Amino acid sequence: MSLQQKLEQRANNQCELCESTESLSYISLKDENVEECVCVCSKCADEINSVEYKDINHWRCLNGSMWSEHSAVKVLSYRILHALKSESWANELLEQIYLEEDELAWAKEGIKEESDVVIKDSNGTILSQGDSVTLIKDLVVKGANFTAKRGTMVKNISLTDDPKYIEGRVNGSHIVIIAAFVKKQ
Ligand SMILES: [Zn+2]
Repeated sequence: MSLQQKLEQRANNQCELCESTESLSYISLKDENVEECVCVCSKCADEINSVEYKDINHWRCLNGSMWSEHSAVKVLSYRILHALKSESWANELLEQIYLEEDELAWAKEGIKEESDVVIKDSNGTILSQGDSVTLIKDLVVKGANFTAKRGTMVKNISLTDDPKYIEGRVNGSHIVIIAAFVKKQ
């Protein structure tokens, strides 16, 4: 029996995330074996493989799959919920989902940890993705040939992998800014 067939059998021929029976395939979370794969429909596979989820409300189905008896299904549900945690319903499900310690470790392997790098402003306030900040110093922007004036507001900042820097748009240019030179709004 092929891996696909074994998974379909385990899944009773329905998507293990949303229970659809449309064109089933599978997604591997690690290796190509039954324990580390999840049987999914084309809709779920398509959403998972896109850069950003297009149909966020589709994932309300995780309300069911997160209680699966199969670790891989729970792990995948957790990862998707984690990616959607800015949605209040997803955050609520994330608080309810129960994973064994090893399952949680597995789930987190696939999640880029934002908490690894903590970026603070000039006051020591922790900055988050999307925050607005103001510059507390004039910044000479190398390469763009202008000075970003003290007091300039930078909306919707991005965090970097380096605790010293953030990124944002000033005068239409996307620039790197020293975090110690800004103040959170
Ligand atoms: Zn599905």
